[in-house]
Amino acid sequence: MVVKPKIRGFICTTAHPTGCDAAVKAQIDYVKSQPAVDGAKKVLVIGSSMGYGLASRISAAFSCKAATIGVIFDKPGTEGKTGSAGWYNTAAFEKYAHAEGLYAKTINGDAFSQAVKDEVIDLIKKDFGKVDLVVYSLAAPRRTLADGTTVSSVLKTTSQSYTNKTIDMRNMTISDITIDPATEEEIDNTVKVMGGEDWFDWIQQMERENVLAENAVTVAYSYIGPELTHPIYYDGSIGRAKAHLAATAGMINNVVSGVKAYVSVNKALVTQSSSAIPIVPLYISILYKVMKEAGNHEGCIEQMQRLFAEKLYSGKPVPTDSENRIRMDDLEMLPEIQAKVTELWNNISTETLSDCTDIAGYQHDFSELFGFDVPGIDYDADVDPIVPIESLQ
Ligand code: NAD
Repeated sequence: MVVKPKIRGFICTTAHPTGCDAAVKAQIDYVKSQPAVDGAKKVLVIGSSMGYGLASRISAAFSCKAATIGVIFDKPGTEGKTGSAGWYNTAAFEKYAHAEGLYAKTINGDAFSQAVKDEVIDLIKKDFGKVDLVVYSLAAPRRTLADGTTVSSVLKTTSQSYTNKTIDMRNMTISDITIDPATEEEIDNTVKVMGGEDWFDWIQQMERENVLAENAVTVAYSYIGPELTHPIYYDGSIGRAKAHLAATAGMINNVVSGVKAYVSVNKALVTQSSSAIPIVPLYISILYKVMKEAGNHEGCIEQMQRLFAEKLYSGKPVPTDSENRIRMDDLEMLPEIQAKVTELWNNISTETLSDCTDIAGYQHDFSELFGFDVPGIDYDADVDPIVPIESLQ
């Protein structure tokens, strides 16, 4: 079939198999162009099919030569219907890893569920014995709890309504948006979905089953950002969940012996999850312009390669801030970068959009998430939507 993008709001309902393959290959090529890292050798990545989790898996495999198990929650293609981008990314990742003799297996299912935890732990016992790194990179809109109820996360403020500018990507207009406060129940549910409870469950069960190596590391990802996004992010319902995630790192360090847990605060980037947050996409499109002009822009793969090379496995103690967080947002938060972003933010309108933002870069990255707008791909050619993930055959 010929696959074209079908964008509905902030999601694309189609994905291009060969485009996703080429985008994954480009990330692998970037990592291979960097010096090898003497890091983890047996790695579990939970949420490994897109964004930061995919980049973590690629960095582990192609920087550290690690064997990886990935947990994904994706749909395969069928006759006449494309699979999810995460499915195609994982198929490509495994294909390239196996071609280099690297172990790579994937479990496709709900990472929040006990069944998937059991399956992963059994696989670790069978194939690895123990893992020395667990990356927790889930970004999920909802979670089904052990009792069968499903709770959803919301992207709202926590105290009062907040009005600021946002971009409507359908018609490229800037307008004001008002975000209302979440109820206490909505905040609690957001913490259940995006906080640290499930991360803690994974690590505690892995310790109980004796599948964590001595001095194993576990890392989960967070975001802080500038003040203009604080009401919707850092101080918002998602920020409450991230505060819980940070507290969970402390809890793991206190109660799970022999494991070192970190939260890595990453840079704001276009991913499927971040594109759903009001205000943030406009901020990202300005940030891209400023950081590209300053020559310090990074994508997910550059961030994760640097996390492995300079923070987790540099051979020196892991550098953290006063709250035990690894700061991969160091360049984003430079005062000169933020001063320029604020200046552009204050001048942004529909008329000044192309001058004040890198909206073309934003749109390119968004398309590329789903395998579109990838250099070298013939988007008029027929492609087979059915692409196997080798370890799931
Ligand atoms: P993403 O949407 O690109 O990736 C999320 C991954 O989680 C996908 O592979 C998805 O399939 C998987 N997933 C979701 N629900 C699942 C489930 N139930 N079972 C198994 N897999 C599931 O998101 P991302 O932006 O890479 O986010 C990853 C982490 O990084 C999140 O904690 C996010 O808050 C954090 N982060 C993101 C940004 C950003 O700007 N994108 C910045 C800093 C931190």
